[in-house]
Amino acid sequence: MQINPFETAKAQLELAAETAKLDKNKIERLKYPDRYVEVSIPVKMDSGEQKIFTGFRSQHNNARGPYKGGIRYHQDVNLDEVRALSFWMSFKNAVVNVPFGGGKGGIIVNPKELSAGELERLSRGFVQKIYPIIGPETDVPAPDVNTTGQIMGWMLDEYQKCSGNKSMATFTGKSLDNGGSQGREEATGFGGVYVFEEVIKSKAVNLAKDSSIAIQGFGNVSTFFAKKAFESGYKIVALSDSQGGIYNSDGLDLDKVFVHKKSTGALKDFAGAKNISNSELLELPVDVLVPAALENVLTGDNAAKIKAKLIVEMANGPTTPGADMVFASKNIAVIPDILANSGGVCTSYYEWYQNMNNESWSREQVLEKLSAQIKQAFADVLEQKNKYNCTFRTAAYILAAQRIIEKM
Ligand code: NAD
Repeated sequence: MQINPFETAKAQLELAAETAKLDKNKIERLKYPDRYVEVSIPVKMDSGEQKIFTGFRSQHNNARGPYKGGIRYHQDVNLDEVRALSFWMSFKNAVVNVPFGGGKGGIIVNPKELSAGELERLSRGFVQKIYPIIGPETDVPAPDVNTTGQIMGWMLDEYQKCSGNKSMATFTGKSLDNGGSQGREEATGFGGVYVFEEVIKSKAVNLAKDSSIAIQGFGNVSTFFAKKAFESGYKIVALSDSQGGIYNSDGLDLDKVFVHKKSTGALKDFAGAKNISNSELLELPVDVLVPAALENVLTGDNAAKIKAKLIVEMANGPTTPGADMVFASKNIAVIPDILANSGGVCTSYYEWYQNMNNESWSREQVLEKLSAQIKQAFADVLEQKNKYNCTFRTAAYILAAQRIIEKM
């Protein structure tokens, strides 16, 4: 059965609203984005032929500040997904207390099938259609799945041309030589480890320092999470990419894994580990599971087979409400995406702030601020969890909904 992420988002909010008896009218309003648009983008292909692509931008809520959220390029992007992701961004920004609302965008395209020139024309074409509704104090897009600092650079240039507004702050996630921030690349993965360490310190979940960790994914978020956790002395026992995973219960030597992936292009067949499938990775006998690749990987079908004591959601929306119910009944703690992966948007806020104020912070300054901001967010969520005796997810939603409602 196809799981609709927008329905998942609404179900998560309803549970929080019931638990904390939140204002019904405000909650009803929060279930729907303020606005979403669908645009058609004509692109001249290298062959000379014209092709029409479809793009979306959803602006969920701006009570706390400009709409903020990435733009993804994927062949399966659809309006419900973009609406759900914009909804999650409002809540994520509120949990981590950055002064932004929630937005998200996407284009239906497999970017690997386009040449660099076609990709640039598509990116500029999208901005030509949405520039009237974005801007540094209106809606601030960023990269997401399959979009890069280079793409943000093209989009910013096109925005400046179309609108006449020369501010660098309309897009974040830009490259360093084009107004980007130090520390952005590693922020999401590192932020996840900062949260993980707070969970251990708080004793909300009883875990030893040599706990075993399995991570699904080997991209931006997952590799920086793995690097930081490995450096801090944690034992990474499994990793995976789209072609499958590797597992060694004694721990993987991460430096050697990077060399292997670089030379072969895949994780599989790494010496000193056995090959496993992505679904086997999720069900390993580990202490900590970190889904950091895709949505809807933990569902009612596999939740009962999960053996981890703690799940740190680094991907957006990896757990369905059905799986959440199973985890709650088995006392498996889930650190929700809107808290665990909020390091990325924190640093996007720092980039926006630096652009708006013509400042340039060092990597150390950025990571120090990030660590303090994420630790505070964890403490605020824990307070709600203890107050309402609920899951981390429901506590995070209660905290965020209260903060948004206050501004509404
Ligand atoms: P990425 O493209 O850099 O990495 C994705 C990884 O997933 C790759 O290693 C890929 O091989 C792997 N993968 C693809 N298909 C798979 C499959 N079927 N099974 C297992 N692995 C598979 O993406 P990313 O930026 O690391 O983002 C990962 C997740 O984190 C997404 O859900 C994204 O929305 C979320 N996220 C990213 C950021 C950020 O700053 N990049 C911030 C917040 C949330």
